Amino acid sequence: MSKTCYYEVLGVERSADGKTLKSAFRKKAMQYHPDRNPDDPESEARFKDVTAAYEVLSDADKRAAYDRFGHAAFENGGMGGGARGGARPEDAFADVFGDVFSEFFGARRGGGGRAGVSRGDDLRYDYEITLEEAYAGKQVELSIPTTKGCDDCGASGAAPGSSPETCSMCGGAGRVRAQQGFFTMERTCSRCQGKGQTISKPCKTCSGRGRVRAERTLSVNIPAGIEDGQKIRLSGEGDPSINGGPAGDLYIFVSVKEHDLFERDGPHLFARAPVPMCKAALGGEIEMPTIDGGMTRITVPEGSATGKRMRLKGKGMPHLQSGQVGDMYIEIFVETPRNLSSRQKELLREFSDECNDQTNPEHESFLGKVKRFFEGAG
Ligand SMILES: [Zn+2]
Ligand SMILES: [Zn+2]
Repeated sequence: MSKTCYYEVLGVERSADGKTLKSAFRKKAMQYHPDRNPDDPESEARFKDVTAAYEVLSDADKRAAYDRFGHAAFENGGMGGGARGGARPEDAFADVFGDVFSEFFGARRGGGGRAGVSRGDDLRYDYEITLEEAYAGKQVELSIPTTKGCDDCGASGAAPGSSPETCSMCGGAGRVRAQQGFFTMERTCSRCQGKGQTISKPCKTCSGRGRVRAERTLSVNIPAGIEDGQKIRLSGEGDPSINGGPAGDLYIFVSVKEHDLFERDGPHLFARAPVPMCKAALGGEIEMPTIDGGMTRITVPEGSATGKRMRLKGKGMPHLQSGQVGDMYIEIFVETPRNLSSRQKELLREFSDECNDQTNPEHESFLGKVKRFFEGAG
């Protein structure tokens, strides 16, 4: 292993700042990158040195340790082993190159790093809750469909007694190189889809995929205030990768059932309450349930008309982020009595005879308008 001073490897001063380090690293790494120097052990060794040097110097803690103790800081299984121990350049590449090369080797980074490694699939799970549950929040146990390694073939995908063969097209690398203009680009091998192996006798249980369907339970907190159509993302709870990459994400799509009494608009709740004609005229109280499971009494003022709105402060839904609680609005509508007995009709007729422009001002004013309309027309 090379013991050249890391600062010399990158050709920078000991006082170099992060930007200088990055640009020096970028220059050297491009120069010695194995893609540009195929089958050149010298370049490969230099590339590893450059990568190891940058991995240490670009990390403030590692750099401080190196400044104090030199290479000894990372011996005995320490932290600086990115490019050592027979690791392929890609191993170091995935760890430290990050944004330095991302624009240049975008395809490779975007594809998830090393050859053939892919991210697991995202999963969608639909879950319906009631408005009361959206109000209070809910802890739910979900049974999530997933996949697991096939027991019959030891997850290899090859029928018992056989085994996968190294792909003849890419030699097991999972990727093939192709010249594209000035640059050598890598592509996923089309024969093995990047797995590096092919299967001639697929396992019958898993059809050669190496994985079978399974279920697992997951405890999920649905937060108070969630709205219809919102989704909860559980990072890394999706399908596992088939080849050692990161797992996908799980998205829980929440829908909120319609409620018999309440209609929701963001944090506010709306309800329509019927009030018998006599109570609307005389004034009184009605009972109204609230979303928290309680019951509240509302005063209906004397002479209330249909469409009158009353507000119950703080009886709406909690806001998902702030936790602030909205209001509840109650709109009343006056219910005209039906199925009257002859006694009731008699009382109403008697009452009607007593009515005048004081008791029904709108009706009287309407009649006045009608009268003027015909007079104007004639
Ligand atoms: Zn292949
Ligand atoms: Zn199998």
